[in-house]
Amino acid sequence: MQARAVLASVLAVVLTLAGCAQPGTIAPVQAPQPVESTAPPTPKPSPLPTRTKPPKPTLRPLPAKLPAGLRRSTGVRPVALTFDDGPSPAWTPKVLDQLRAARVTATFCLVGREVQRHPELVRRIVREGHQLCNHSWRHDLELARRPVAEIRADLIRTNKAIQAAAPGAPVPFYRQPGGRWTPEVLEVAKDLRMRPLHWNVDPQDWDKPTAATIAKRVHSAARPGAVVLLHDGGGNRAATLAACPHVIADLKHRFGITRLK
Ligand SMILES: [Zn+2]
Repeated sequence: MQARAVLASVLAVVLTLAGCAQPGTIAPVQAPQPVESTAPPTPKPSPLPTRTKPPKPTLRPLPAKLPAGLRRSTGVRPVALTFDDGPSPAWTPKVLDQLRAARVTATFCLVGREVQRHPELVRRIVREGHQLCNHSWRHDLELARRPVAEIRADLIRTNKAIQAAAPGAPVPFYRQPGGRWTPEVLEVAKDLRMRPLHWNVDPQDWDKPTAATIAKRVHSAARPGAVVLLHDGGGNRAATLAACPHVIADLKHRFGITRLK
């Protein structure tokens, strides 16, 4: 008898501790939450909450120095002008006006999605005798570090947009955004019959220097055969535009300006 009574009270205690007696006690509605937060079995916070995107394949490292085989000079005394990150309705037509007035041609390194938005500008570039260069679909600075299939798809997509805008226009060059080349992107470009185009004069006009600074930097860095990097897209290019008459006149006078081959 006594043993049974003891057993009954032990059972009652156990049941109470296990939470079965909850309904009569505190805030039953919130019961699940505190139980979960105090429950020890769940391991330490997993990395999941901090991860916003699904895991991507790791990027291959950038080589310590630029891979061999990049085109960085014209191979002749005259220099070449290259304009990156367009086409832009705000700046590209004005650059084209200046080039036409100076009777020189340039190479335009086009971003695929901008091509898709402004195909008429691509047609004007081609109509006025300039050359085209693929500058990737969305200016992905890490593109060259991604899987080869991804690089290839990006470059093909960009070329298709260019072809849709200006059917039959050749795209003889590819330029890696940021100049962040890898041997892999170089191979893909070559495989798609585009020559990898780099530069050797960079006035860093993307970094918002004044027009005078841009002109001065090009003037002091230019040598025979230089490939000059400028921008007609990707931001406010007023300074580049204001520098262009000086840059063009200076280069034309000292070396001549040629078409890249
Ligand atoms: Zn660029």
